[in-house]
Amino acid sequence: MELKDLQPAGLREGESSVGGNTMKVEIEPYSCVSSGNCLMVAPKVFDQDPEDGRVILLTEEPAAEQRGNVDKAIFLCPAQAIAWAEEDQS
Ligand code: SF4
Repeated sequence: MELKDLQPAGLREGESSVGGNTMKVEIEPYSCVSSGNCLMVAPKVFDQDPEDGRVILLTEEPAAEQRGNVDKAIFLCPAQAIAWAEEDQS
């Protein structure tokens, strides 16, 4: 699969929820290997700690136009340290 073939992770353009549950970005900073790939493709969602280079999440709920970039970051992260997570509304 190539980057251009990525399909949004359970979200269609303009959607912020699946089945009534809000989708949020989650990171695992201790799994991060400081590659910087995520902030290259989604600099409005991710930053890097200036001390150790680990990922910093700028927003759990990125704007609709940023969601495709989050998908790219998930695809490009070598440490599988980024994921979408459903926030249970019940
Ligand atoms: S792409 Fe993954 S490993 Fe690289 S900085 Fe982002 S979270 Fe860390």
